[in-house]
Amino acid sequence: MSTSVFPDSVIIVGAGIFGLSTALAIADRHPSTKVTIIDRATPPVEDGTSVDTTRCIRADYADPIYAKLAEEAQLKIEQDPDLSKYYFKQGMSFVTDGEAGPMLAIWSKGLVNIQRTGKRTDLVEMPDPESVFQFIHGKDSKLVPPGRLTGKRKWNRGYCNLNDAFIDARESIRVVYERCLAKSSLSFQTGTAVQKVLVEHGSAKGVLLEDGRQFHADLTLIAAGAWSNMLVYLEGMTKSSAIEVAWLKLTPEEIHRWKSMSITTNLSTGFNIFPPHNGEIKCLRRSAGLQYRARKSRIRGDFIPLGAEVALRDNLREIMPELADRPFDRTKLCWLSQTRSADFIIAPHPSIQGLHVATGGSAHSWKFLPIIGGYVVDSVLGILDNTLAAKWAWADKGPDGGSSPRIGGAAQELAQVVRSRL
Ligand SMILES: Cc1cc2nc3c(=O)[nH]c(=O)nc-3n(C[C@H](O)[C@H](O)[C@H](O)COP(=O)(O)OP(=O)(O)OC[C@H]3O[C@@H](n4cnc5c(N)ncnc54)[C@H](O)[C@@H]3O)c2cc1C
Repeated sequence: MSTSVFPDSVIIVGAGIFGLSTALAIADRHPSTKVTIIDRATPPVEDGTSVDTTRCIRADYADPIYAKLAEEAQLKIEQDPDLSKYYFKQGMSFVTDGEAGPMLAIWSKGLVNIQRTGKRTDLVEMPDPESVFQFIHGKDSKLVPPGRLTGKRKWNRGYCNLNDAFIDARESIRVVYERCLAKSSLSFQTGTAVQKVLVEHGSAKGVLLEDGRQFHADLTLIAAGAWSNMLVYLEGMTKSSAIEVAWLKLTPEEIHRWKSMSITTNLSTGFNIFPPHNGEIKCLRRSAGLQYRARKSRIRGDFIPLGAEVALRDNLREIMPELADRPFDRTKLCWLSQTRSADFIIAPHPSIQGLHVATGGSAHSWKFLPIIGGYVVDSVLGILDNTLAAKWAWADKGPDGGSSPRIGGAAQELAQVVRSRL
């Protein structure tokens, strides 16, 4: 229902990209609205999905709606005097094993898309394994011989979009948090988790914290990422799952050697590696992920499953052989709120008045940090563009894959695969 009056008071649960971006948008557009942002930790929240060493910033979506939004957001980051300090435009390479299947189709579509819409100078094509390898290691470098690989070669054809970039996600969140602190209409309550949303006669009245304190507001916005569905029943629209991430320390010579490489991802294996940043390299795999149903047994530590380590090392052996057997400096399970189509949920609750959600960021929402909050405000006002309102509606999202493809299969149960040490 459309309403042109913005609430006088708002509680935002969650200080990730959705929560902070929305807080700033409210402060800019409705400065008389008092906003309380509540998070279980002080931003940048280390185990929140938005905080990490790096995130990709790119606009080469096959979906024209996300492509347009991402282009707008990327430009804002580039023009932002503070965020641009943490932004590195070194391109992103997309590689495939060339085997027929859905991932090859996604890869080919991506290539055609950039050939059609991008500038020719932004595109570097790599038609064979040598050119893929040499794009990282230089013209004279030699492929790893087949006998040293586990199975068939998988880094066979690729292209790089030089317009893509990466950003220091932790420092950027710090910038945005500090901007929020400077706004007199915004205040933070951090250190204690929200236990539940307070609902009376079908209307949300605010939240109850785990320490018993209550906060009341006209509007409660749940932007709690992978934990949103513990506060609001999301009817199966999102799944919380974790992606395995690992960091390796580099020598000064390696930092120098690889400093200009692109973000490099293999759509067939799900492997993704970032250029050196702060003396280390990060790699991850876009797997079907891990889930956590066994609530009673607490999982300790952030050690990735053996299968994930093997998969990461197999990829390293082929594409970054020097790193294949190097111990990981640290690993992390990065939790995210995933919808089937990877479309977000930015919508009013269908039956509880005064309750809104902004979640389901899947593995691609970070890049929209500079603009997403404006759309959340539009949604609250009931003036969100019809196409976006339909895309981000409170509705089951399908089909699978969408704008953030992962390799197939079902998520594994964490308790069965996680290790207590590496
Ligand atoms: C490994 C990985 C790689 C990714 N790569 C990219 C990329 O390259 N580019 C890109 O654009 N996107 C990427 N994404 C996606 C992007 O990072 C996420 O979609 C986005 O950060 C989600 O933000 P959020 O605000 O929903 O969640 P979060 O950042 O997790 O914020 C939610 C906040 O809610 C708080 N919270 C939760 N429960 C409670 C509670 N009960 N009480 C109080 N506070 C609570 C948490 O502490 C947290 O701070 C990636 C995601 C992952 C996991």
